[in-house]
Amino acid sequence: MKILVACLLPGFYPALVCTAGNFCCAQLEKVLPDKLHYPGDQVYNASLSSFWSEQEQSVTPICVLRPVSGRDVSEIIRTLATAPKCRFAVKSGGHMAQAGAANIEDGVTIDLSALAQFSFEQGRSRVTLGPGLRWGEVYNKLAAYGLAVPGGRSSDVGVGGYLLGGGLGYFIPYGFGCDNIVAYKVVVASGAIQNVDAVTHPELFRALKGGSNNFGIVVSFTLRTFPLGRVWGGNMVYLAAPTVDQQLKAFSDFTGNTHYDVHATVQMSISFAPSVGIIFVDQPFYALPRINPPALRSFTRIRPRLQDQTSLTTLTAFANASGQLSPLGFRQMTWSLSVANDLETLHALFIAFNNSIPSIASVAGIAWSITLEPLPTAFLLSSAKFGGNSLGLPIRPRGKALVLCDSSFTWINENDTATVRNAGLKLLDDIIRSARQLGTYNDWVDLNHADYSQDPISSYGRANGAFMRYVSRRYDPGQTFQKQLPGGFKLPA
Ligand SMILES: Cc1cc2nc3c(=O)[nH]c(=O)nc-3n(C[C@H](O)[C@H](O)[C@H](O)COP(=O)(O)OP(=O)(O)OC[C@H]3O[C@@H](n4cnc5c(N)ncnc54)[C@H](O)[C@@H]3O)c2cc1C
Repeated sequence: MKILVACLLPGFYPALVCTAGNFCCAQLEKVLPDKLHYPGDQVYNASLSSFWSEQEQSVTPICVLRPVSGRDVSEIIRTLATAPKCRFAVKSGGHMAQAGAANIEDGVTIDLSALAQFSFEQGRSRVTLGPGLRWGEVYNKLAAYGLAVPGGRSSDVGVGGYLLGGGLGYFIPYGFGCDNIVAYKVVVASGAIQNVDAVTHPELFRALKGGSNNFGIVVSFTLRTFPLGRVWGGNMVYLAAPTVDQQLKAFSDFTGNTHYDVHATVQMSISFAPSVGIIFVDQPFYALPRINPPALRSFTRIRPRLQDQTSLTTLTAFANASGQLSPLGFRQMTWSLSVANDLETLHALFIAFNNSIPSIASVAGIAWSITLEPLPTAFLLSSAKFGGNSLGLPIRPRGKALVLCDSSFTWINENDTATVRNAGLKLLDDIIRSARQLGTYNDWVDLNHADYSQDPISSYGRANGAFMRYVSRRYDPGQTFQKQLPGGFKLPA
């Protein structure tokens, strides 16, 4: 117990010796003493070092709370909501890049990693997942029954943040991850644990599908499962210069194919590292055990190729391999944008990427990458079919498939941060400007990959924003989750 004793005494707060953060931890210590951890304690240190980005690892809360049940979370929220100066953060897998998204300086970080329940419902047609699980564990457990759910591409990504931000992955026929949720258990601002589904709380149910941490703390998600056996795919690596035209044409044709094979998807990363220059890393994926299926041959026949790691494999192994490419503890910047599927726009995007290299080429340990992901009309239709989310993914121009473009910029030293961020934001602006000129810019931003300078919830459109504010006032009249939980992406005013 490291708190100042003064913080426990009535009348001492807000004395100078007892900061708001100390006071909040002291109040929580009265309620859940064995779940509270302070700097130097093993659980506190493990919680901080489990964040993905170095920036999030460097944020130092006064205390970390590690609840083990929904009831614990309810006690925490009841306590915090009655102390408006207490500021807190909520962490599941800790994979959002920006400092403060799921951690808080001088506040209380609620680490949900112990809420890792996994249970089947209704035979095995549904599975209930705790937010503290990571996708690798989920895939592994489901695979024992020949089942899967649409989750993240990397095994380390957390269930909680991913599903609350939408969630993109391998399975076109199921839309966003959040489209497959049939029920939530949520601790709302009053501390009540609500069972939320399309019948009991239809508005909150929809608002949570894209609403991130704005409505409460989700302590479980129930999703539909589907059968899955072995899958095919893996990374293929190419030098950019001799293959760029083939790459972008293959991507554009694949995304816009009017007979899109819904078992197939691909991620195409354009990456720079000083040792190799610019390369393409294509990751085709096929959700059936079929080697080199016709739908993905436009990628597999690209030549010359440096490496081919495709194989028949399992979803778990696939996600583990992806996870190994993104280790913890580096400085990270991600952003997200979307454009209509258009070959000229993809070329403009590549040129902008190429032009960005000189400004970061000498940064120590730089890994500079953007990833293209198809959102074919089949995906948008699947999302609409299961749908009822609040993401408001617009389709502009109408009838065109979309392309999502996410960045992943990794570096080592703090003194390079300004250089990398400036170059990263300039690249974002350059791509947006080109797409606007070509009439292909689509103003939707994927919350799960957004930079803190972006406003993904506004990109869901005015009607969705107004709807989400209404739901927020209804379930959180004191606005606890807007005022006391500042991290991540908040509802627009
Ligand atoms: C290596 C890597 C691979 C990725 N792959 C994919 C991918 O394939 N598809 C994709 O869509 N995204 C992907 N992402 C992005 C990822 O989905 C987001 O970073 C997501 O927020 C991570 O969830 P988390 O639980 O790990 O994050 P956290 O950082 O713990 O949380 C993110 C946000 O959600 C809030 N939150 C988390 N849990 C709860 C909860 N239970 N209740 C209320 N609020 C909560 C937090 O407060 C925070 O603001 C990837 C990211 C990385 C780093």
